Amino acid sequence: MKINVATELKSAGRAVGRHLEEDYAPVELGGHKLVFTVPIGVDITYVYDGEGFNAQGVLSSELLMNCTKCNSEFRQPFSVEFSERFIKTSEDEAEELECYAFSGEVLELDKMVLDLIVLNAPVYGLCKPDCKGLCPQCGCDLNITQCACVPIADEDEEEEIPPSPFAQLAKLLNNEEEV
Ligand SMILES: [Zn+2]
Ligand SMILES: [Zn+2]
Repeated sequence: MKINVATELKSAGRAVGRHLEEDYAPVELGGHKLVFTVPIGVDITYVYDGEGFNAQGVLSSELLMNCTKCNSEFRQPFSVEFSERFIKTSEDEAEELECYAFSGEVLELDKMVLDLIVLNAPVYGLCKPDCKGLCPQCGCDLNITQCACVPIADEDEEEEIPPSPFAQLAKLLNNEEEV
């Protein structure tokens, strides 16, 4: 992902806004593979101050993820705000200054894009907030089927279970402490 900044280099102080989109290959991250289902979009505003570019904006995309409970695939949109500086120097020096380097008349955004993704992209998630997961015994997807091996535990039933004598004792002890 690149921006030609030939014009901006001649007109310091002028803020420019751009929307960029590009398809990215999957990114390896700690044993995970981040797979993008849509292009990565970057809304960026940048201004040249005579020495470098201050750039800010929002990166957004969508990831193909596997639910941590039921393992089904789902799409997870995400976005991240950024505020970065690009200076005309070597990669090493830019890193020391916690900036990004640029050379010639082109702002190369790939390094920033990948850093933002590696630091911010969600890696774990649920296909839906109330995903029931898989049956620990037969492995069926409890969102789709209710197998025979799992008794249907509903909250009302749980309340009817008599509290254990130890729980009662604990209650008494707690009360005594409070008095
Ligand atoms: Zn799920
Ligand atoms: Zn089962």
